[in-house]
Amino acid sequence: MHHRLFPLLSWLFLAFSVPVLAQHPPNVILLIGDGMGVAQVSSAFYFGEGTPHFQRFTKIGLVKTNSVSNKVTDSAGAATAIATGVRSYNRAISVSPDTVSVPTILEQLRDDYGYRTGLVSLTSITHATPACFYAHVADRDEHHEIAAQLIGSGVDFFAGGGLDYFTRRADGRDLYRELASQGYRLDSLELSPADPSRKNGYLLAPESLPSKVEGRGDFLPDAARMGLDYFTRQEAPFFFMVEGSYIDWAGHAENDTMLIREVADFDKTLGILLDYVEAHPNTLLVVTADHETGGVSLAKKYHPQVVFGQKKEIPAEVAVSFNSNQHSAELVPIFAKGKGEDLFPGIYQNNEIFTRLLRVVRSEQ
Ligand SMILES: [Zn+2]
Repeated sequence: MHHRLFPLLSWLFLAFSVPVLAQHPPNVILLIGDGMGVAQVSSAFYFGEGTPHFQRFTKIGLVKTNSVSNKVTDSAGAATAIATGVRSYNRAISVSPDTVSVPTILEQLRDDYGYRTGLVSLTSITHATPACFYAHVADRDEHHEIAAQLIGSGVDFFAGGGLDYFTRRADGRDLYRELASQGYRLDSLELSPADPSRKNGYLLAPESLPSKVEGRGDFLPDAARMGLDYFTRQEAPFFFMVEGSYIDWAGHAENDTMLIREVADFDKTLGILLDYVEAHPNTLLVVTADHETGGVSLAKKYHPQVVFGQKKEIPAEVAVSFNSNQHSAELVPIFAKGKGEDLFPGIYQNNEIFTRLLRVVRSEQ
């Protein structure tokens, strides 16, 4: 009996172990639209040319965003939940409600699975959303401390603004020089080609980069493409967070033109990431928001003049309408494509995103 089972067992062992051994854990790309609710996504369908890349998703869900302190979250509370799986208070940067550091998904994938890691933001790299992936502080305004924690995080590729927090510091440290002495290839002027044999950092503005209407150009899609090129040359899986930061700022400014152009830029970046996932199937792309900003709706558009007390609708057009200049408590959309995409449809709390990402990495599907 034994000798007849043995060849079968060894064949089974080979059949199941070889593919597992040959393949890295999946790459994880997280694209976050700060302030991007369903209405913001909808704007791409009414104001863009052609079909938005959002339409390429078939696995879609909704995410509850409230923090433990506020029904209406801020970016810090929401990004802490997404990055650590632990819900905390508004202004927290990856600390628990009692301000104890909680390990982030970036740190766990780096330490436990050997992932390379990357961050792209249009704001300072020390701003709440990117900070929640590598730093742990009690309040989001501690930019100098957050910058100091980036030094120790070992992030392999980062691009954004915030140079002043590295070079103009009360403690006299020059963190830019410290990064260079750690072996980083740095650039503070442009997205020059990355060196695949080193870590690369781009700090291209003293604070935030300009918005699209202020002339940012193609920084977001270009930085996303550069990051993917860099990681593809590494002999390791990667975790890459990319943030479209100004959709939120358009909501705060109640600026419809800014909102439409930032969402279009986000969708262009999304196209690059989706193309990558389709060419590299052992990759998961998750797209979501930290919260909605502006209570935006796409409403009827009216002629500017009121005639005989009557507003006259323009039936062929639609207007971006703001309910406030603040964040809202609306559910935000989540989209997934690639390895493990089936785990993401549904309606759930934002800290579940962390849990589901880890399940995909551990192949617990
Ligand atoms: Zn905001």
